[in-house]
Amino acid sequence: MTTTNHELQDLLDNNRRWAADTEAGEPGFFSRLLKQQTPQYLWIGCADSRVPANELVDLLPGELFVHRNVANVVVHSDLNCLSVMQFAVDQLKVRHVIVVGHSNCGGVVAALKDLRVGLADNWIRHVQDVRHMHQAWLDTLPEARRVDALVELNVLEQARNACHTTVVQDAWARGQEVVVHGWVYGLHNGLLEDLALTAASAADVDPAYRRALAGVKARHAG
Ligand SMILES: [Zn+2]
Repeated sequence: MTTTNHELQDLLDNNRRWAADTEAGEPGFFSRLLKQQTPQYLWIGCADSRVPANELVDLLPGELFVHRNVANVVVHSDLNCLSVMQFAVDQLKVRHVIVVGHSNCGGVVAALKDLRVGLADNWIRHVQDVRHMHQAWLDTLPEARRVDALVELNVLEQARNACHTTVVQDAWARGQEVVVHGWVYGLHNGLLEDLALTAASAADVDPAYRRALAGVKARHAG
């Protein structure tokens, strides 16, 4: 226990320093945040520790609403994700919902290679559904490209799922501005790329999906 407490003490020390630096850099920062948060963006990303949402886009507390799970999956029956989406869209009025995958995603590797990892197998089934949907095209790719190709396909499918949620559909029906995007993050270079799935209305979803899918296939062709 002593060892553990000692290890965690570093985190608490880091926190004290971070809070002091933040307040020194912008006096009143925390008391302003206490009153309200007004994020413009909802980030739906992977739980992977190498993909920390706020840091990648250099946003401060209060500026990004975040939901993360294994392999950035948006499932229609996942009340956790849907509740986050509903609060973000209905209450906070975020203008953008961004589904973000990342290269070398362990969940996607497991889905592609039928690796058994335990309970999470059942969650990763959702990514396997994506794989099966696109299996014929994936089979045409060299082995080395398949993981990143499935990462991108998974972003497109999950972003499309986000578009189909009642939360986003209802927002669009009442004329609220909310745009759904699909991005992918490169662990090797720290860069985010827009997969050009950009849907701002119910009518946008299918054309945006098809355009983005063609883009992903072109990226991996040859
Ligand atoms: Zn991941």
